[in-house]
Amino acid sequence: MRVTHCNRRALVFAVEELEPLESWSLGSFRVRLSARTCDCGIFQSLHFPCCHALAACAAASIEWGRYVHPVYKQENVFKMYEVKFPPIPDKKLWPEWYGTHLHPNPAMRQKATERLVSMKFQNEMDEVERVEKRCGMT
Ligand SMILES: [Zn+2]
Repeated sequence: MRVTHCNRRALVFAVEELEPLESWSLGSFRVRLSARTCDCGIFQSLHFPCCHALAACAAASIEWGRYVHPVYKQENVFKMYEVKFPPIPDKKLWPEWYGTHLHPNPAMRQKATERLVSMKFQNEMDEVERVEKRCGMT
């Protein structure tokens, strides 16, 4: 990866990949650090510097951590887990539900063999087929 154009004042860079990383690679990418964008789209999508932005920062001796969205910062991750999660109370203590009650359809239940339960009504012909399939030993 090589930085071919560097405008430190505008924080705009052109970064060229010497070897394409993926088949979709365009080869040359424009990085705008102040807008936190790159032609590859990863920088603005993840709100985290892509490899082109990191190359631009390295070329201009700019600390890349300032372009990481605060949501990735460790203290923010810890804040998310500061909230206490109340345990689910016993089912007997749940409020009464007056809405629609859903029940599973037993006909759709799968057996352990992964076969669906047959919904076909059995008749005399099924009984005959079952008898015909029996082995002569019984
Ligand atoms: Zn990029």
